[in-house]
Amino acid sequence: MNLVKDKFLIVFSGGQDSTTCLHWVLNYFKKENPDINRADYKKYIKLVTFNYGQRHDIELEAAKKIAELADLEFDLVDIPNVLRGASSLTDTSVTLPQNESLDDFETGLANTFVPGRNLLFLTIAANLAYSHGVNKIVTGVCETDFAGYYDCRQDFIKAMELTVNQALFGENTGIEIITPLMYLTKADTVSLAKDLGEECLKALAYSHTCYQGVFPPCGKCHACHLRAKGFQEAKVEDPLLIRASKGEYISELTSK
Ligand SMILES: [Zn+2]
Repeated sequence: MNLVKDKFLIVFSGGQDSTTCLHWVLNYFKKENPDINRADYKKYIKLVTFNYGQRHDIELEAAKKIAELADLEFDLVDIPNVLRGASSLTDTSVTLPQNESLDDFETGLANTFVPGRNLLFLTIAANLAYSHGVNKIVTGVCETDFAGYYDCRQDFIKAMELTVNQALFGENTGIEIITPLMYLTKADTVSLAKDLGEECLKALAYSHTCYQGVFPPCGKCHACHLRAKGFQEAKVEDPLLIRASKGEYISELTSK
């Protein structure tokens, strides 16, 4: 008899936050279902990764590697050329801001903002959740480091959850959208990853953060700075930088 009460779909980019969310789910699932074999987790925990024409193909390679390490499959959904909006993440003619210090970045809405990205991702995730019989969608969005990304805030998630349930079931409940990192600082997220254990830290060695889409990471973009600050404040050595110092590439793919 199948007693598993929750099935999960993780919106998974291969980045630091969604990798931490993946291991948060693995830990949660293990506690809730101590009798389920790890090899069977893939029946209950699904991953979806989006190719939305981002600057960094390397992110997709990271997602694949981390999914393999966790013995889970990921569903790669191709939606290139769907999202517009002159973001420096999707339009290489727009300059990606790089600075020596975090303080040197302009405040306000960053030009890395991709309008409607999470709105679209969660819409597709809802479709997949429905088809897999999943009742919990997990996303690593976080409003603590708010940079004008409105679709990373809890107000949006609450509204989206309502919309998804109304769209799929004509009710206000059915699928829950879980955001384990919503109110955590980057340092808190690193501490969480450490608490989740070695497997999570090992996975983070392959996670991709750099907006430039390079390995080793550029160290000068906003994402690199935020990641570095988080690890520094949490007093944890970033496993990605340890891997970089050893020159351990996943494959020949390093940048676009
Ligand atoms: Zn960078």
